[in-house]
Amino acid sequence: MPNSLQDIISPLHNYLMALYQKYQSLKEGKVADYIPELGRADTDWFGISIVNTDGQIYQVGDYQQSFTIQSISKPFVYGLALENYGRETVLNRVGLEPTGEAFNSIVLDAKNNRPCNPMVNAGAIATTDLLTGEDSGARLQQILKMFHLYTGRRLDVDIPVFLSEKATGSRNRAIAYLMHNSGMISDRVEETLNIYFQQCSISVTCNDLAMMGATLANKGKNPITGEQAIKSHYVQDVLSLMHTCGMYDFAGEWAYRVGLPAKSGVSGGIVAVVPGKCGIGIFSPLLDAKGNSIRAVKVCEELAKDFGLHLYGAVEPTYDLAFSMQQPYPFLTATSSG
Ligand code: GLU
Repeated sequence: MPNSLQDIISPLHNYLMALYQKYQSLKEGKVADYIPELGRADTDWFGISIVNTDGQIYQVGDYQQSFTIQSISKPFVYGLALENYGRETVLNRVGLEPTGEAFNSIVLDAKNNRPCNPMVNAGAIATTDLLTGEDSGARLQQILKMFHLYTGRRLDVDIPVFLSEKATGSRNRAIAYLMHNSGMISDRVEETLNIYFQQCSISVTCNDLAMMGATLANKGKNPITGEQAIKSHYVQDVLSLMHTCGMYDFAGEWAYRVGLPAKSGVSGGIVAVVPGKCGIGIFSPLLDAKGNSIRAVKVCEELAKDFGLHLYGAVEPTYDLAFSMQQPYPFLTATSSG
């Protein structure tokens, strides 16, 4: 059932609806089940949202369904660390190289003793350690405030997911203590781990992800509220790392096939950014063996192909995304003129 006039008349909405229907029947993959809360996800959940840099929103399916942000928090907290400390200090603690290893591997860059990049758990924990604030409450509030700027609404931590992440987080604890041992993170190891588990457990919708993506696409300024969520100076740092390391050890193939900076998380979300144009947020919890949402990857591949979104693409697209977005009512125009 359409929700508004725009739902009826926007050609982009109709396109997204067709894409949603095409992939809803795809039942491959499995939900993450390392904690019971994620294992209970409904395999039918599937939402797609696009927010463009003019602030127009297009959404279909379960775009209001909440899920935990998980690893999608990593690039945004990295941006916050850059704002707190600047490039040089952050670079001393977290590198810039893809690993080709699993996101939770216990590997540090042998030469510098630092995590390889901020998108693997080691790098994300080191990034979280860099957040300023006198106690864990103040540090968490800093993260929540940042997400408020990106999404335009207050987000909260899903407490049962946080407690489960904490109870089962031995591997992350091992990574953190290894980094502490080599002087890469401060003494407040347990506090930093608690904040990391909470940042992964923040509840979002795919519409929030699209807003976050649109804000990065719009030089760090939320296109609806007009608030600056991250200094424009650091947007390229965040997007570059998303481009090279954002999709687990599928990052290379993703860059080849889709060609957009993106980040995925184990609960089934993906945020992708089309610089200057829009943010795309997709949620569907069925994952492939590398931990990426199967439906979300397919949708992004198709969007990139049909609208010519690949950053290095040189082929005429099937549709013109700019046209669909800047004139959201061409169906009405066509009707009234003909
Ligand atoms: N909470 C998860 C962990 O740190 C994040 C997993 C993910 O989304 O990649 O293991």
